[in-house]
Amino acid sequence: MSVLPEVQGDYGRMYNFINGQWVTSDAARELDVANPSTGGKIGTVPLSTKEEVDRAVEAAQNAFWQWRTTPPIDRARKLMTLRELFEENREELARIIVQEHGKTIGDARGEVRRAIEAVEVATGIPSLMMGYNLEDVAAGIDEYCLRQPLGVFAVIAPYNFPLMVPFWFLPFAVGCGNTVVIKPSEQVPISMQRVMSLVEAAGFPPGVINLVNGDKEAVDALLDNPKVVGISFVGSTPVARYIYRRASEGGKRVQCQGGAKNFIVVMPDADLEQTVPNLLSSFFGSAGQRCLAGSVLLAVGDVYEPLREAFTAAAAELKVGYGLDESVDMGPVISKGHRERVLSYIEKGIAEGAKLILDGRQVEVPDYPEGYYVGPTIFDGGAPAMTIAREEIFGPVGAIIPVGSLEEAIKIIDECPFGNAASIFTRSGKAARTFQYTVRCGNIGINIGVAAPMAFFPFSGMKDSFFGDLHAQGRDAFNFFTERKVVITRWF
Ligand code: NAD
Repeated sequence: MSVLPEVQGDYGRMYNFINGQWVTSDAARELDVANPSTGGKIGTVPLSTKEEVDRAVEAAQNAFWQWRTTPPIDRARKLMTLRELFEENREELARIIVQEHGKTIGDARGEVRRAIEAVEVATGIPSLMMGYNLEDVAAGIDEYCLRQPLGVFAVIAPYNFPLMVPFWFLPFAVGCGNTVVIKPSEQVPISMQRVMSLVEAAGFPPGVINLVNGDKEAVDALLDNPKVVGISFVGSTPVARYIYRRASEGGKRVQCQGGAKNFIVVMPDADLEQTVPNLLSSFFGSAGQRCLAGSVLLAVGDVYEPLREAFTAAAAELKVGYGLDESVDMGPVISKGHRERVLSYIEKGIAEGAKLILDGRQVEVPDYPEGYYVGPTIFDGGAPAMTIAREEIFGPVGAIIPVGSLEEAIKIIDECPFGNAASIFTRSGKAARTFQYTVRCGNIGINIGVAAPMAFFPFSGMKDSFFGDLHAQGRDAFNFFTERKVVITRWF
């Protein structure tokens, strides 16, 4: 048995990063951070108090004016330095992500790359932040529209992308001249702590980027602090709904990306050899803990049987284990509690009459018996009304449902309250066009199983998967993090 050095690592108690200083939290409450692959403790996270959050917001507020008046090209240069530091440290960051989250090293490297891409896009701030103007809107009168930063933004992140999700917001917010307070998920606080040391090395002025560890208490302090002008949230739908309501009541800008239940349609003309590997990555990549993960497979017409056979056979071959081992295809779920939740969904599927054709409940990873593993699991013969086909499981559990036509598949997708992503596999341009035209989901894949937008496009989402108007990244980000001011001029 090979024991990788990181298995024994303990990152200690997390610090907050406030006003350019590493600060020991005096919170009485704290949690252990576990490595989900081994079940071992790898750190402690303080659950910061309202007073500590308020101090971080105060620091961000105090840093705002100087940062806002820094020329955009100089702000962009700080982001360029941060990008270089990311590149130099990307393998270490990826290995931290594996240890605290449990995804494979390949997935973690991809996550770091995505965060770097967001920084790269935000370095275009001097162009992307430009307003527009028109001469002679009336005789001798000109008019122009400026974009201005607003102040302090808060970023509240989920556990499933410890590094990438905060970077859907951070580089755009600070690039536009705002300052930020980041509250990472208390389940995965180590990646962002390491990133803060890169932020510090990049030379951002004190207070421009702050980090506070914590849970609901810290979130509520951010929501209720009148100096916070806007909130970017990613997480589950009930929390997204709550944050959207409470922050809006306080008059803040809010964007809340919520949970998901993603359907994948396979048409009879699909090329199964190409399709099945895509499905595997979509359903079982990151142990199903991606908000873009496939969850229900809608097999149209006579593709149903060959698809079921090929998909199930390939899923049964996936190697489950600790993601630092390069040969592993799938890691554990995030926690013991989440494992129990996923297992309870499997029980529900059985109780509601679906047939379990691949059972991941007894998966064994002999080197790490205390890890939170669930093997790839597939239900057949499910119905759209069943719990497993309607609720977000967020684990490696898929259901195959046969349908008669594309129209029937689209109707099922439409009736689902979530609208994050949906994909179709087909050789027909007409079917693909009908799908993209009709389906009410924010991210559409055509022969793509994980429809993840690049940093220069918005990470979309509809229905119960998104509350707000402007999404993360892309042009939406520049609109969210700036205010438009119109100036009309006449010179006598
Ligand atoms: P979560 O909602 O439990 O937690 C998200 C954040 O909210 C964390 O920082 C947490 O500390 C905080 N939080 C939790 N409960 C709270 C409460 N009652 N009041 C205030 N704050 C609270 O989500 P999670 O389990 O960390 O992440 C998984 C979820 O995120 C899934 O539902 C997944 O679909 C979703 N997600 C969505 C997207 C998207 O783009 N739509 C992307 C990634 C993840």
